Amino acid sequence: MLLTDRVRSSGAILANTSRGMRRARFTIAHELGHFLMEWHEFSGKTGFTCSARNLRETREGRRELKQEAQANQFAIGLLAPFHMIDPLLSGDPDLRDGQRLRDSLDLSLEACVRRMIERRSEPLAAIWSKDGVVRYAIRNRGFPFVTLSARDRLPQTSQAFRAASNHKQGFTEFAEAHPMAWTNTSDLSLFEQTRLTANGHAVTLLWADAADDSDVDEDLLPELGAPSFR
Ligand SMILES: [Zn+2]
Repeated sequence: MLLTDRVRSSGAILANTSRGMRRARFTIAHELGHFLMEWHEFSGKTGFTCSARNLRETREGRRELKQEAQANQFAIGLLAPFHMIDPLLSGDPDLRDGQRLRDSLDLSLEACVRRMIERRSEPLAAIWSKDGVVRYAIRNRGFPFVTLSARDRLPQTSQAFRAASNHKQGFTEFAEAHPMAWTNTSDLSLFEQTRLTANGHAVTLLWADAADDSDVDEDLLPELGAPSFR
């Protein structure tokens, strides 16, 4: 939380360190954002009280949500600027990049995976789960709607479900997934990769590819070239 006055003449940030310093660093940067954006209106009597959910807010609907999303944008921009993350990203999406970012930037894996998805141009989504039950999901602009929400079970046909059921710790490789298991459309190729920890926490990366993208190019080329053979 941030204790301050309305004109921000001074302030104090209180961060919970019980879930590790990496999370606390993000919290401090988030509260610093509320302090510096002096048009942000208090969420409590003496300043800002920010929940774990606030600290991953990306929606910009109501004023309170917008303020939280802005404080998060400030925090991730301060702690993980693009010029520091770009050299650490692989050619293709990979959850291992999130772990590399975590170790290099001293941030939580969750924050790093969210940043990676925001930065990459491929249509990506991530689903966080615990013991096979969804906690929350995010996606970037190119990715179709994720049909799962908090407290849903992971789809039984998914590699993520199998990894959670088998308590298979570590990273899986990307495997093809049934698009209808995760999204509201069947008209795409979908790949999934999961990282599972010993305590049952998992993150699943989904990578979508519009089904006819490459076909269109291959079909067009012979037609375009055809006149030259006449
Ligand atoms: Zn906040």
